[in-house]
Amino acid sequence: MDKLIDLHSHSHYSDGTLPPAELVALAVTRGVGLLALTDHDTTAGVAEARDAAGESLRLVPGVEITCGWRGQEIHVVGLGIDAADEPLQKHLAALLDLRRARIATIGAKLARQRHFAGRDPATAVLADAHVPTRTHLARALVAGGDARSTQDAFDRWLGRGTAGHVPQQWPGIESTVEVIRGAGGHAVLAHPHRYKLSSGALGNLCAEFRTAGGAALEVSLPALSPNDASRLARLARLHDLAGSAGSDFHEPGLPWRPLGRFAKLPEGIEPLWPRFLV
Ligand code: AMP
Ligand code: MN
Ligand code: MN
Ligand code: MN
Repeated sequence: MDKLIDLHSHSHYSDGTLPPAELVALAVTRGVGLLALTDHDTTAGVAEARDAAGESLRLVPGVEITCGWRGQEIHVVGLGIDAADEPLQKHLAALLDLRRARIATIGAKLARQRHFAGRDPATAVLADAHVPTRTHLARALVAGGDARSTQDAFDRWLGRGTAGHVPQQWPGIESTVEVIRGAGGHAVLAHPHRYKLSSGALGNLCAEFRTAGGAALEVSLPALSPNDASRLARLARLHDLAGSAGSDFHEPGLPWRPLGRFAKLPEGIEPLWPRFLV
C-alpha cells in the first residue's frame, strides 16, 4: 500500500498534546510516509520531529501562522520552511507577544466574573504553554470544573458574545505569505471551509492569497462533507492553486481528526507534495 501524506499536524509545542517524537511515532504506525509538523506560530518542535523521523518517514518542517483578513482570523500553513530564517522567527516572536497579551486580558476579564471570584484561569496557561492558545485556556477551564468540555468552555466563557471574548488584530495575509516565502517555504491556505465567510468572500480571500504568492489550498481533510469537498476543489481550480492534504491532528483522543486518514485529492488539481519528495 502506498504511504499516506499528512501535511498539517500539531505537537505539544502549540495546542497538540503529543511531544514531536510521539507524534512522529504515531504517524509511522499509521503508514504516513510524508509528515509536516505545523504548530501554531512556532517551529520549536521541528528539530525534535526531524530527529525522531530519521529514516522512518520524511519530515517537512512547517508552521501554521495566524493572520487576519477583513476582521477574520485566518490560518496560513508554511511548508518546507527554513526554521532558522531570521525574519520568520521575528514574525513568530511578535505573534507570541500578541498571544500572551491576549490570553492575559482574557484571564483578567474572567477573573472579574462572579463565577471566578478573582481566580485567574490564564495564570497556569501562561506559565506552562509554549504558545498559549484559547484551546489551552478552554482545557484549563474544563480541568478547573468551570466547563464540561472544551466546546462548552468556548460556548460559556471564550467564544463571541461571552465575557472572555477578546478580539485580536493579527498581521495581514501579504506579510504572512511573504515571510513564509522568504524562509523558502510554500504558503498553504488552511481549512478554507472553516472560516465564517460567504462564498463570494471566500473567493476574494483565495484571489488575494494567490496574488500575495500563495501556493496551495488545503482541499483534502478528514470529515469534509461532499459539498465542502467540491467547493474547495472548485476554488483551487478557479484560482490556479495547488492542493494540499492534512489531518490537522491535535490529539489521539479526537477521532474526527485522525492522523493520516482522509480523502484523496480531487481530480484536476495539482498536488503540492511532489515538491517535498525531490
Ligand atoms: P486562538 O489561536 O488562541 O485564537 O485559538 C484558536 C483555536 O481555538 C482554534 O484553532 C480552535 O481550535 C479553537 N476555537 C476557536 N473558536 C472556537 C469555538 N467557538 N468553539 C470551539 N473551539 C474554538
Ligand atoms: Mn490548534
Ligand atoms: Mn488552523
Ligand atoms: Mn492546525
